[in-house]
Amino acid sequence: MPRLIRRVLAFVLPGLLAACATAPTGVTKNTSKTFDKVVVDAGHGGKDTGAYRRYGGVEKIATLDVAKRLERKLRESQLKTVMTRSTDVFISLDQRVAIENAEKNSIFVSIHFNDSRKRGIHGFETYYHFANAAELANRIQAKLMTIPRSANRGTANFHVLRLATYPAVLVECGFLSNRREGGGARDAEYRELLADKIAEAIVEQRYGPGIYHASAEAAVSPHPPSEGPSLAPAALRHD
Ligand SMILES: [Zn+2]
Repeated sequence: MPRLIRRVLAFVLPGLLAACATAPTGVTKNTSKTFDKVVVDAGHGGKDTGAYRRYGGVEKIATLDVAKRLERKLRESQLKTVMTRSTDVFISLDQRVAIENAEKNSIFVSIHFNDSRKRGIHGFETYYHFANAAELANRIQAKLMTIPRSANRGTANFHVLRLATYPAVLVECGFLSNRREGGGARDAEYRELLADKIAEAIVEQRYGPGIYHASAEAAVSPHPPSEGPSLAPAALRHD
């Protein structure tokens, strides 16, 4: 999501929820090594489109597609899953947190794409709030960095995630505003690759390295043939 919106949310949301009697009490549970369920959160949806850029299209569509692919891969790896949404519907942030907190022995993984007014800005970011999610965040970031030509914008603290009871991360799968990463977000095979890297990190976090096996569909080139002008050879240059 755009940085400005994130900043606004970080200040406004906690205030709103503090006024709500059902807000979580802030007790966290460290299930980062024991979880058997992953709450997969496709960012935005319905009236909330997220970012919308010429190169990358509509964020809510890309996030849902990556989330569905991630869910399938996690199920194939014998993990249970819950989707906060599986269609194009609006779900508020506090509803998403409530869905997560209702699932015992879980972790929460939120999928987003980034946006910037500067087209040259690109790279992956993974956010977390509590220390119990730092290892998972670092693992996801490291797996995404194995994608050729990826850029590391690091892991950082994201205040909104403070409301989650269980380990929670938010993955920014590249910038829709960047020609190359936006083109990737519109490409099904690249989205499959993103989901594959995130799934690998989650399975490794739970069961250790070497356990995860990508499904056949995931074995794709990181730069598949163009499905639009954004992936034309000239577009593959570094912005
Ligand atoms: Zn977003």
